[in-house]
Amino acid sequence: MNYQYWNEKMETLPRPELEAYQLSQLKSTVDRALRTTFYKDTFIKAGIRSSDDIKSLADLQRIPFTTKHDLREGFPYGFLSIPLDDVVRLHASSGTTGIPTTIYFSAADLKRWAGFVARCIYGTGCTKSDVFQNMITYGLFTGGLGFHAGGEEIGMLVIPSGAGNTTRQFRLMQDFGTTVVHATPSFLLHVEAKMKEEGISRESLKLKKAFAGAEPYSEDTRRRIEALLHIDVYNSYGLSEMNGPGVAFECQHKDGLHLWEDGYIAEIVNPETLEPLPDGEVGELVITCLCREATTLLRYRTRDLSAFYTEPCPCGRTHRRLRRITGRTDDMLIINGVNLFPSQIEEVIMGIREVGNNYLIVVEKEGVMDRLTVKTEVGADIFMDDTRPLNALKEKIRKTLQASITINPRVELHENGSLPVSEGKAVRVQDKRPRDV
Ligand code: ADP
Ligand code: ZN
Repeated sequence: MNYQYWNEKMETLPRPELEAYQLSQLKSTVDRALRTTFYKDTFIKAGIRSSDDIKSLADLQRIPFTTKHDLREGFPYGFLSIPLDDVVRLHASSGTTGIPTTIYFSAADLKRWAGFVARCIYGTGCTKSDVFQNMITYGLFTGGLGFHAGGEEIGMLVIPSGAGNTTRQFRLMQDFGTTVVHATPSFLLHVEAKMKEEGISRESLKLKKAFAGAEPYSEDTRRRIEALLHIDVYNSYGLSEMNGPGVAFECQHKDGLHLWEDGYIAEIVNPETLEPLPDGEVGELVITCLCREATTLLRYRTRDLSAFYTEPCPCGRTHRRLRRITGRTDDMLIINGVNLFPSQIEEVIMGIREVGNNYLIVVEKEGVMDRLTVKTEVGADIFMDDTRPLNALKEKIRKTLQASITINPRVELHENGSLPVSEGKAVRVQDKRPRDV
């Protein structure tokens, strides 16, 4: 395989040098943190008075964790470590799990962020000759402007098409010969059906690659998109608290996401005890941002679940790889006492060939019991008026799910293209149970 690095020195820095660099960045981050109203207090309580108290990377453990709740408490400027006058932009999270949080950037922060995103894009084999259509929400959400800047940094022709409106997306792809797109995996799954509907042939497009992120998806979903659109799909991970996209990304091997350790220190901890977990074990990802001067965040609990690979990657990058994020700690559903992550359902149903590209999970109360219903679309080649094969498929989905999740779900089949599609992050779960107050 031919590898290309955007920043070869940093991407292949030997581990001892990478860790020495992290330590120096951590020290300046601690000094910056002491200028924020939030950390001033928490650091004093933890006995940290200056960066001199941080002598090795192990001293990171002395720093308290920061949660989304802290960010909301510190709204609007509790984490700001530079004068407001030097801030040039703000972004906010999507608010998937509550009130959005706000992150501020200086001009230098934006430049560094674009560099990290460029690294990700370039590492998949893209060059300045590629035409990049960014089919994701622009605005406060970081995916739009974040990828936009990364593409421009490389010198690609960037088309800021934004999310949704497949008709216009196809037109742009045809008019300008788009070779690479960025979108949510759920939108990409939806694209092929729309192509058929609008009579767009695959041959009329020059598409080669897609970057898919912003929400969890399974390996089977990736393969499905790749097969439907005849492209390579690369997993992109980021979160607004850590700038946005450009935190971790797959290289050409598509096996684990390299987390840029010169910009971020990542830990995997047990979400209950908060103790560090050994490489390979799944836990909550905790990140310290080293590459931003405006908003300072240390040991931020992402609530995302992942694990570190134990082996280095053949691509030569020395930055550790994360396993595909399977969901968030707070995504977990408890159904009649059994713990269930939506990703477990996706893994099963996307592996069944006859199942279409969209699904919905509904949880309700029936008397004292919880009731799980999995609604899936059927494949485009299945007729809804022929009940025998439909019943057989329903039974197959039910049995395969039950064997895997130990819960007996109700399965509903819906016509291809009939379940709701969201323009941004997909909403896959409807929990209709009354909440305890
Ligand atoms: P919000 O937390 O409101 O959704 P963001 O827009 O910052 O705010 O989204 C970041 C979150 O999106 C991550 O914390 C993670 O849960 C999810 N996410 C982003 N990229 C991926 C990915 N490649 N795989 C799984 N989840 C992802
Ligand atoms: Zn690699």
